[in-house]
Amino acid sequence: MPSLAETIARHGLDARKSLGQHFLLDPALCTRIAAQAGDLAGRHVLEVGPGPGGLTRALLATAAADVTAVELDRRAIAALAELEAAHPGRLRVIEGDALRIDPAELLPAPRVIIANLPYNVGTPLLVGWLRAAAALEGMVLMFQQEVAERITAAPDSEHYGRLAVLAQWRCRCALLMRLPPGAFSPPPKVWSAVVGLVPHAEAPPPALFAAMERVTAAAFGQRRKMLRGALKSLGDAEGLLRAAEIAGERRAETLSVAEFDRLARLVAAR
Ligand code: SAM
Repeated sequence: MPSLAETIARHGLDARKSLGQHFLLDPALCTRIAAQAGDLAGRHVLEVGPGPGGLTRALLATAAADVTAVELDRRAIAALAELEAAHPGRLRVIEGDALRIDPAELLPAPRVIIANLPYNVGTPLLVGWLRAAAALEGMVLMFQQEVAERITAAPDSEHYGRLAVLAQWRCRCALLMRLPPGAFSPPPKVWSAVVGLVPHAEAPPPALFAAMERVTAAAFGQRRKMLRGALKSLGDAEGLLRAAEIAGERRAETLSVAEFDRLARLVAAR
């Protein structure tokens, strides 16, 4: 295969900000990221935003059964055709918007998502996958470092909020690697970080997930307020908090994920 720099030059893949394009050109770094997923033997991997294919090459070098790569940028599709030809039957490149695809429809189980995500859509992509996390064996995802910290934050810490509760409610989450801007071409303004997410066995029904989204939106929408005020939009906030055995004077950022789970179950059961 030609070098990634050659691939980029040949296909005029100059990075576009609107597509969140910051490419990984160091094969050793791509191999390290792919390795964070553990043994991929027999796994079907979904990669979002393969770009010129640095991480894709590393994924193809693992024991994964196959790799399905979804990319919005047509220029990259052409660049990836060579890689597809070099790995017949193991790489499928799909031109499309990852926000509109359902991993469970696209590839068979066991499914693992591994991606250096476009930062502009990283959070909505993650929330969608959390909603359907029962269909996934795991995820290894690169975000801006601040988003990675929001996913893995503990209660009562600076970054704890809605994303931490949703992610940790559905998955075991760990911040695995931090990468400086210079690891990418072109370098972003901020550091990046890789998060590992392994779904918990219990899968909440859609109504319970929706209730958790409502509870966390209300609680953190007014995070400086006491919960008895912040949860008013849910109706009978006092009764809800009493039933969940949570003091109304507390603020959202002090609640554990288990306490949010109690609130969501009560709201879903109404
Ligand atoms: N994986 C490559 C790498 O690590 O070098 C590129 C990562 S770059 C941060 C994000 C990639 O996602 C870009 O190739 C971009 O074109 C693609 N992308 C942006 N929005 C997308 C979307 N909604 N669906 C699929 N791909 C998207």
